[in-house]
Parts: sequence; structure tokens; C-alpha cells
Amino acid sequence: MKLFRSIVELQNELFEVRKEGKSVGLVPTMGALHEGHASLVNRSVAENDVTVVSVFLNPTQFNDQGDLDRYPRTLDADCALLEQCGADYVFAPSVEEMYPTKDNRHFEFPPVTTVMEGAHRPGHFNGVCQVVSRLFYIVRPDRAYFGEKDWQQIAVVKALVRYLGLKLQIVECDTIREADGLAKSSRNTLLAPDERAIAPKIYSALKAGKEYGATHTLKETHDKVVADINAVDGLEVEYFSIVDGNTLQEVESWDDSQYIAGCITVYCGKTPIRLIDHITFKE
Ligand code: AMP
Repeated sequence: MKLFRSIVELQNELFEVRKEGKSVGLVPTMGALHEGHASLVNRSVAENDVTVVSVFLNPTQFNDQGDLDRYPRTLDADCALLEQCGADYVFAPSVEEMYPTKDNRHFEFPPVTTVMEGAHRPGHFNGVCQVVSRLFYIVRPDRAYFGEKDWQQIAVVKALVRYLGLKLQIVECDTIREADGLAKSSRNTLLAPDERAIAPKIYSALKAGKEYGATHTLKETHDKVVADINAVDGLEVEYFSIVDGNTLQEVESWDDSQYIAGCITVYCGKTPIRLIDHITFKE
């Protein structure tokens, strides 16, 4: 496995790779890697001749400086995990390398960029599109791997690929969870033990909501999930949106769509740490 910090050096290497007719998979990450990331890398390794994993804590997608400052940085451990997974190249550029000048591009793909995370984290998806488009131009992958953990992000990235007119496949990967159901996340390491103990209640409430939804209206189900989570001392729901899985628009009844998902954001603990999760109600 080779580590690159320079765009030009990585591109020189990939030029040779492509000359041999090899396929390239890209897994974009922000580091502090865990088994969720590893599952994306494993899949890319299985499906491509060569896998590039980017490890770049992208400042332009953070709308909260404290969140960026707190974000764990563990490049040595990340490289050890990636080596185990069989990744070929790690691309870990500095902020100056990725953004030699301020990125003034503005991406908006309503409605997928404006609802849910788009509404609650202004500028977040613009930053995601800036970094992902730049990674796509640099690496020119045949396939790029994204986790359903960041459910809305996949819809945004697909809209970006359509807009840029790139020939590349977006591969959606299942959410990997802890044994107690908590979705694995780099931010989980920031949870104090008492916070870590209550965080799994988010997914258990979503699962209970799915069962409850089989015999109750969408609104009753929505309200029960929110009430169950808010009843836990230390958890507070920011939003819970039950949406059409394709348009990401809120639906009012279970009959409104064949594909319905619930996306939730919860503040956990005193800091607080912002956790996101999702569940499919109908597919
Ligand atoms: P991040 O480093 O948080 O930007 O995540 C990099 C990629 O890994 C994104 O496509 C995420 O959706 C994906 N990812 C993060 N956590 C998980 C998880 N628990 N299961 C599956 N994929 C994940």
C-alpha cells in the first residue's frame, strides 16, 4: 500500500494503472476509520483492480467549527486498517493541497440538498460536493463507494454525478452497526461512557417505530419515535423526517410511496455529539 500526499504524484501513479486497463475504485473518507469504512474498502477491493482510499478531513463541509476541532484524527491507525483491507493507495492531502485557492464553486440540487441535513447544516452538502467532485476529477474512478449511514449524502452525490456528467458508478453500502445497534461512526469515540450507553436507544426506537408503523398512521409513528427518544435523559431529537426514498420529500401517509425511509438526527450528551441514523419503512 502506498501513501500519497500530493495530487500530481497520485495522478502519475494512476495514469500507469489505467494504461494497464485496470479498474479503479474510490472510497472517500474523513479518517478515524472503523469497520463501517472497512466494509466499503473491502467491497471496492473485491470489485476493482485497484482501490484508492482518500483520508481527508474536509473543512468545507463543517458548519460547526467545534465539530471540526473535536473530530478524531488517527492517520497511522487508519493506514494499518487500510493495509489489512487490501487497499492499494491512501490519498491523504493537506488542506492546502486540496484547496490551493478558496473553492468558490456552489452546488445546489434541490430538493435533495435543501431538506433534512441540508436545512439543518447550511453549507454542508456544498462542501461535500466540493470535495467529492475534486476527488472524482483527481482519481477518475470507475466506481465510488458510499455508506447508507449517510443516507441523504448518497442522493446528493448521485445528483452531483448526473450534473457533472461523469461516467462512474456510485455503489451504495449497508450501514454497519455495533452489536447493540448503534450505527458505527467516527464520532462515537467522542461519547463519554454514559452517553455511549444511551446512544443505542436511537436505533432501538427506530426499529420499534417500524413495528408500530405496521398498525399505526405515519404521524402516530413519527411522534412515537420522537417521544421515545426524547424520553431518554441525555438524548434530544433535532429532526425525524419520514420521506419518499427517491425524492426525499416528506410523506404524510404510508400509501404515499412504495419506498419510504425515516431519517433522524439526535443530540447525545452534554457536549453534545450529533448522531444520525435511518431506517427503511417500505421498499
Ligand atoms: P466519513 O469518514 O464519515 O465521511 O465516512 C466515509 C464513508 O463511510 C461515507 O460514505 C459513509 O457513509 C461511510 N460510513 C460511515 N460510517 C458507516 C457505517 N457505520 N456503515 C457503513 N458505511 C459507513
